[in-house]
Amino acid sequence: MPGFEFFGAEERKEVNDVLETGIIMRYGFDGPRKGVYKSRELEQAICERLGSKHALLVSSGTAALTTAMAALGIGAGDEVIMPGFTFVASFEAVLSVGAVPVLVDIDETLTLNPEAVKKAITPKTKCIMPVHMCGSMADLDALQAIAKQHNLLLLEDACQSIGATYKGKALGTIGDAGTFSFDFVKTVTCGEGGAVLTNNSTVYENCDGFSDHGHDHKRGDDRGADEHPFLGYNYRISELHAAVGLAQFRKLDQFLELQRKNYGIWKEALGAIPEVSFRTVPDAAGDSCTFVSWFMPTGELMQAVLAELKAQNIAGGHMYWFNHNWHYIRKWDHLKTAKSLYPLNEAQQQALRALQQQDFSASDVIMSRCVSTAITLGLTEAQVKEKAGAVATAIKKVLQQQAVSA
Ligand SMILES: *Cc1c(COP(=O)(O)O)cnc(C)c1O
Repeated sequence: MPGFEFFGAEERKEVNDVLETGIIMRYGFDGPRKGVYKSRELEQAICERLGSKHALLVSSGTAALTTAMAALGIGAGDEVIMPGFTFVASFEAVLSVGAVPVLVDIDETLTLNPEAVKKAITPKTKCIMPVHMCGSMADLDALQAIAKQHNLLLLEDACQSIGATYKGKALGTIGDAGTFSFDFVKTVTCGEGGAVLTNNSTVYENCDGFSDHGHDHKRGDDRGADEHPFLGYNYRISELHAAVGLAQFRKLDQFLELQRKNYGIWKEALGAIPEVSFRTVPDAAGDSCTFVSWFMPTGELMQAVLAELKAQNIAGGHMYWFNHNWHYIRKWDHLKTAKSLYPLNEAQQQALRALQQQDFSASDVIMSRCVSTAITLGLTEAQVKEKAGAVATAIKKVLQQQAVSA
């Protein structure tokens, strides 16, 4: 799964190119940088490989989401419909532009249930934000149809799913904008970094200015002479981070190939157990296979399986999101009590407190039964087979014990 598993001479070479010029900022200094533009090079590589008209690198995936929302004109009073299963960054970005996160149920795609989205639409809804969790994708046809019918924006949080596709198109390139994260545990890493993708030139120009204090970047090397047509922030990436990302991104196809191969081994081992089922993948050919996400028939059985894995010391890499502090609404007390260091706007405070009463039982039923097992890159085929076999054996043991006690 994470690119840091394959880190070496290629990353060092790219970073050294930057260190040799000493120009570690992406803008300006055109003379001394001697033609070294790692950020631009990575943006171009992303556009070519993923089929996007534009890509803009920023300092993190969170910054990418914030930048995309600002560029799409999402702000105070606007509602953004998002799933209750995601990384906290998704709602942080919504709050940061003054908008209201409207959290709704997921289905077995592990992201937005299109029916739940429809029910959540109000006159204030501005955007639907599917989060392509754990390497796979939302039901984008259904969500796009809803967005079109209600004249809403579609922003893809593809931070966990670089390289995945839906009906032949790269995730992140299908909505009005899409985002990636290159933090340390993602498939492609820069250390810290992110990207906004869009096919809309105005949205791209907005991102370009917003992430650099509003600079219009139209006066060549003289940054001081740039105009500021609108307000911005500093969400720039550095050349050092982009250099690491460039070496990593060139390995994407290698990562995907290994992930898909190892995923196949897991799927075979777990799929042989009739009680085990798998997440719904709207386009199986496009799964990036960073995780295999599987279900037990009940939450109690999943807890028993996890206890058995722990007892046998084969617990590593099995993410039980239901109990996770960072990925599921159940543990987001800071969100549900609107615990902000600074005053949130009235609409935000009301919406967040209302989450305490909202019924997420449909999501609970799915999440309590689900585990996502991380597909690691660094293991040999024999090691993956051994690990998957051990997990399958543990599951069978739990099922047998349950049958005996029943
Ligand atoms: C990692 C992640 C982000 C944020 O990325 P950072 O680079 O860590 O800020 C946003 N959304 C999801 C779903 C993520 O997994």
